[in-house]
Amino acid sequence: MEMMSKRICVIGGGAAGMMAAGTAHLYGANVTIFESTDRLGKKLAITGKGRCNVTNACSTQEFLENVTKNPRFLYAALNAFDTDSTVSFFEGLGVKLKTERGKRVYPESDRAKDIVDAMKNYSSGAKTVFSKVKSVRQCDDGTFCVIADREYTFDSVIIATGGKSYPLTGSDGSGYKLANRLGHSVTELIPSLIPLESSSSLCKSLQGLSLKNVAIKIKTSDSSVVYEDFGEMMFAHFGVTGPIILSASAHLRNYDISTLTLSIDLKPALDEKTLNARLLSDFSANSNKDFINSLGGLLPSKMIEPFILTVGINKRKKVNAITKEERQRIIKVLKSLDIPLLKYRPIEEAIVTSGGVDVKEISPKTMESKILRGLYFAGEILDVDAYTGGFNLQIAFSTGYLAGKSAAES
Ligand SMILES: Cc1cc2nc3c(=O)[nH]c(=O)nc-3n(C[C@H](O)[C@H](O)[C@H](O)COP(=O)(O)OP(=O)(O)OC[C@H]3O[C@@H](n4cnc5c(N)ncnc54)[C@H](O)[C@@H]3O)c2cc1C
Repeated sequence: MEMMSKRICVIGGGAAGMMAAGTAHLYGANVTIFESTDRLGKKLAITGKGRCNVTNACSTQEFLENVTKNPRFLYAALNAFDTDSTVSFFEGLGVKLKTERGKRVYPESDRAKDIVDAMKNYSSGAKTVFSKVKSVRQCDDGTFCVIADREYTFDSVIIATGGKSYPLTGSDGSGYKLANRLGHSVTELIPSLIPLESSSSLCKSLQGLSLKNVAIKIKTSDSSVVYEDFGEMMFAHFGVTGPIILSASAHLRNYDISTLTLSIDLKPALDEKTLNARLLSDFSANSNKDFINSLGGLLPSKMIEPFILTVGINKRKKVNAITKEERQRIIKVLKSLDIPLLKYRPIEEAIVTSGGVDVKEISPKTMESKILRGLYFAGEILDVDAYTGGFNLQIAFSTGYLAGKSAAES
């Protein structure tokens, strides 16, 4: 007698869902993807500023060091499908890749669309229903009843509905409710890789200004350093954003953000002594000018007036009248422009959602629920998340692969 192939439902057509669906199909299952938007991979298409940082060319050990929550849970998933697997996977699907600074891997074409197309291609053996799943329940015979545009029956269900951020891409958090109703706990959901708000009017006046090659420190009220980094940041009407700010945000979970200060070293390449010599020479070249007209060589023009306000020297003061004490103050602000922080931006603006389905209730070897047999989870819905660098997509690929394979084989 011919065996009927296993009917598997994948909820969510993102990175994890497409990987799970394609893999389950490869292992012989009859797969249906449910996707609530009108397209597969909407979020994937905007990743890495449209270039898609698809993974990180690092070892599994280094990889786990970049996972902020529950790294050990990922061990088996990475064993089944690691960063090398991701590289050969996409190259096998005809997408040439390249590795950039920080071992970040991108498509050679710089087009996230090529990654989306490859994933669509890989999962094309599955049927896709563009309809939102409203509920899932398990029947007495162990099958699952899935309600979307109509009622469907499946042998297994893989929930890969993503997080709660960028809801326009479809990840509106509805998957957490599905998981909850199936008996799973969801840990606290907080934004990660998120811009930070500040109460300082300085940010508003510097809105739109991008600073490259600055060093930042995030400090507590007793000046201990929580995080430091070097690179690019930007001012916005609400506060601060840009790569090093987003990275910093993932390190602030255990703090009340409103007690923290961002300290920006505007001249990290110059120590105070060198900076003093530089100021003395700039000032002697401009000695009869107003203070406000003497800083053009040192600061971007948009920053000069707000900087002078912060230093507290009259902008019309003649440069030759600036005292040594005032010069020390200028150096102090150049080396440490302090911005009091207030809170995270709303979770909708986060690159990832931290928190999710409690991993204690899921088998790390299969991604299967320990509560309901035949139920699996993959991707950002899980309570695992990582820093920037291609790690979050790799988590989606590894857990998606393992969930798809285990569901088909069980
Ligand atoms: C702007 C931005 C840039 C990013 N850049 C990078 C990067 O360069 N590298 C990196 O590693 N990570 C990046 N990330 C993070 C990465 O995109 C996510 O971690 C990853 O997409 C998670 O994959 P997922 O499949 O779990 O969820 P998603 O990709 O969010 O997919 C979930 C899917 O499920 C669907 N869905 C949700 N609920 C239902 C429902 N009830 N019924 C049916 N369908 C449903 C959604 O419509 C969606 O298509 C970025 C994120 C953002 C927002």
